[in-house]
Amino acid sequence: MEHKSWHQMEKEELAQALGSAPDRGLTSEEAGERLQRYGRNELSEGKKISPITLFLNQFKDFMVLVLVGATLISGLLGEYLDALTIVAIIVLNGILGFIQEFRAERSLRALKELSAPNANVMRNGEVVVVPASELVPGDIVLLESGDRVPADIRLIETNSFYAEESALTGESVPVGKHASPIWEHDLPLGDQRNLGFMGTMVTRGTAKGLVIRTGMNTEMGKIADLIQQTEAMETPLQHRLEQLGKILIVVAVGLTVMVVIAGILHGQPTYGMFLAGVSLAVAAIPEGLPAIVTIALALGVQRMIKRKAIVRKLPSVETLGCASVICSDKTGTLTQNKMTVTRLWLGGRRLEVSGEGYEPVGGITEGEAAVDLKSDQPLRRLLQIAALCNNASLYKRPIEEENKKRKIKEARAEEWALKGDPTEGALAVLGAKLGVSAKSLEGIYNRIKEFPFDSERKRMSVLVTHQGGRLICAKGAPDLLLEQCSYILWDGNIVPLTPSLKQKVSQAAEEMAGSALRVLGMAYRDLRPQDACETEQEVECQLVFVGLTGMIDPPRREVREAIATCRRAGIKTVMITGDHQLTAEAIAGQLGIMPRGGMAVNGRQLAAMSDEQLDKIVNNIYVYARVSPEHKLRIVKSLQRQGHVVAMTGDGVNDAPAIKAADIGIAMGITGTDVSKEASALVLSDDNFATIVSAIEEGRGIYENIRKFIRYLLASNVGEILTMFLAMMVGLPLPLVPIQILWVNLVTDGLPAMALGVDQAEKDLMQHKPRSAKENIFARRLGWKIISRGILIGLCTLGAFWITLRSGTSLVEAQTVAFATLVMAQLIHVFDCRSSRSIFHRNPLQNRYLVLAVLSSLVLMLCVLYIEALQPIFKTVPLDFRSWCLVFVAAGIPTFVMGIGSVLGTPGNKKTRTRIPFDGSKPIAR
Ligand code: ATP
Repeated sequence: MEHKSWHQMEKEELAQALGSAPDRGLTSEEAGERLQRYGRNELSEGKKISPITLFLNQFKDFMVLVLVGATLISGLLGEYLDALTIVAIIVLNGILGFIQEFRAERSLRALKELSAPNANVMRNGEVVVVPASELVPGDIVLLESGDRVPADIRLIETNSFYAEESALTGESVPVGKHASPIWEHDLPLGDQRNLGFMGTMVTRGTAKGLVIRTGMNTEMGKIADLIQQTEAMETPLQHRLEQLGKILIVVAVGLTVMVVIAGILHGQPTYGMFLAGVSLAVAAIPEGLPAIVTIALALGVQRMIKRKAIVRKLPSVETLGCASVICSDKTGTLTQNKMTVTRLWLGGRRLEVSGEGYEPVGGITEGEAAVDLKSDQPLRRLLQIAALCNNASLYKRPIEEENKKRKIKEARAEEWALKGDPTEGALAVLGAKLGVSAKSLEGIYNRIKEFPFDSERKRMSVLVTHQGGRLICAKGAPDLLLEQCSYILWDGNIVPLTPSLKQKVSQAAEEMAGSALRVLGMAYRDLRPQDACETEQEVECQLVFVGLTGMIDPPRREVREAIATCRRAGIKTVMITGDHQLTAEAIAGQLGIMPRGGMAVNGRQLAAMSDEQLDKIVNNIYVYARVSPEHKLRIVKSLQRQGHVVAMTGDGVNDAPAIKAADIGIAMGITGTDVSKEASALVLSDDNFATIVSAIEEGRGIYENIRKFIRYLLASNVGEILTMFLAMMVGLPLPLVPIQILWVNLVTDGLPAMALGVDQAEKDLMQHKPRSAKENIFARRLGWKIISRGILIGLCTLGAFWITLRSGTSLVEAQTVAFATLVMAQLIHVFDCRSSRSIFHRNPLQNRYLVLAVLSSLVLMLCVLYIEALQPIFKTVPLDFRSWCLVFVAAGIPTFVMGIGSVLGTPGNKKTRTRIPFDGSKPIAR
């Protein structure tokens, strides 16, 4: 028999060929065994940099190579000890750089893995979520709108299923898919309409499919090499620092050359000056800067993960600190997404529902009296629609140990939980309270087709059979559902939906929405045998409106405070929701989003506005309601035109363009679709608005930390160069020998700078306006601080050297004093760098890493001074008490002078950022 292609097979043939059961899927054992056999469902990655290459890269720097060359020469000239020590220092420096970069690389990789996609799979007869990389041929996957197809699959069930396959076929319009066999033999990929291909995107509907190929065997795998896309992980700041690094190299080398020439002209030995010059250049070039920036970013990103924010694109860490507007979804982000139906409206009657959470315990009352379901046909109908037009299910789950501990008083070992959409869950709970559930209707009503919910139509419907006939059950946003209704169930009778009755329904819906309830309408239609029911248009028309359900969705507790924090930080919060305007406004009011005079706009008004009109009022709008995903893009663009840096959340497939266009696209980790996650820069693993605010806080902190160690490193380098430069200019002997220069570079630049990278943020971090995205890293007087401090360190070191020299002691002792002064001045300065003001404004012991780093640097310096074996190598002598006093005074002067300056309020230390009253206006570049 000729071998059939996958697209030609019937469901049973497929199941047989793949050794799988379409109703139960594989067992865990089978899946494990197949994973061994077929390998992981992953596309092979591009070349990784091996640790050895990474290590060798540390020595590629031109100046380091010159230094190695010079050292070799000095080795040849008989200075073995010098040469060996210099090589040892270079290797140590290399190891430090390697550790820094290796850590950075590893954390970036870990981040990538964190955001790897999952898949819904049927295993052992149950739907479970597994990492997409663990899928195996024969697995049954369930797909819905917004998913990335995780492997090549043959569809066995579809509901209005569309996929966008441009990555494979170049066709950008989504194609409709079905589950029937196709008989033709050789079909191009685009025509294999019953197959789903790895990496393509589900734009609409739902489907079930059998995995036929995984990993590199998939169609995507075949072209994996072509599409191997590496995301640019370098942030704009890193890029700018790289350029700055190049300028600094030129400056450092230029100054070094001058030092060398001046030294030689003043009679210093040529070779000695050359070695000193190269050492100085190596020390002065902040080669550790890029790695420390990466570390600060990567460690900051790790901290963000702990605070439930996963960064997918490193550059966004910087942008986070500039965010001036957060546009947030309402449901699930600002609210808990734990819905409970509390009120019903049925043809003019108002009913109250009791009970809390997902526990199906409670009842329905009208006035004071409990309703009798048996005699209440409209209520029965409403509950039936709620149960049938529903994909959520309730189940009991054991309360985890930890939970048990927390709820010590609670004796229950199980609690009710929900699988599926919380809105539908609330409806399932409502029915279950009166014994009307999908299960109780099984066999009486059988679902044949679903027209899934989407945020554009804002409704869903199902086609069911009942007693030989067919029935449409629909639910959705009342204003939109009413458009599809021609009748209404009033006092138990089906009557035409006149404008005045429609008005009554709308009024009831608005009243519910005004009490912050999320309102859904329910409708149905009995189909006649001749009625067509293939498309949504054919099905969702001429409906009979039954009633309204109103559900509460309490705001998240921590959000109100987070919004207040934003306000203090000059960040405006905007709610964008598909929900009703009144519901949105009521919740915005509860959360403190809407200031006096703020505006709410709905999707219809927005659609009627031109871009120019929107631009004029966009700064004053705080709530957008009943919007469709495409409106989000307009809102982002308009805000950006007003100079804002916009953070925008989204979860659905249609949110992706807005997420991409935003400066910081944010996706929901729990409810978000793969597509929205892939478009985003940040994923919230708890879907919580407060997490965005934490991420912004971290973003601001990371940027400030980068500024702190840039301040520290560059001021230190300016000090080093200046000491040598001035000494040579005025004809003094070398204040530091080459090995000392390299040693200073190693002990002061490495650990203390890294410790600054993980420094705690200053208290008032979230009390300033966001910085402008165009801000120079040296802004807010950082450049001035670096230069002035560098000059002071240089002068003081040289001063100490000169005084010692003048007192008639040996040159070696004077050099030792200069060496100790330079190290001490830098180690004191590092504490200054923690504050935008001075050392006196923060507790210096707060950063334990910094204290440890400084102590270890101090011990290393003392070793060089006091271990006899090291003294000849480092050309040092032990210092007496008087010399130490001189060292401490000279090293302390810069901090003292700048500190006094800051207390007295000199321009260099004045607080340049002022607290701001929040008015929602655009940020002003400082
Ligand atoms: P947000 O954008 O803040 O998450 P949302 O979740 O309220 O807002 P949508 O999910 O687009 O926005 O819902 C919009 C409206 O569609 C809701 O107000 C509700 O009336 C209706 N709706 C929501 N979920 C369903 C559903 N599962 N079936 C039918 N209608 C629904």
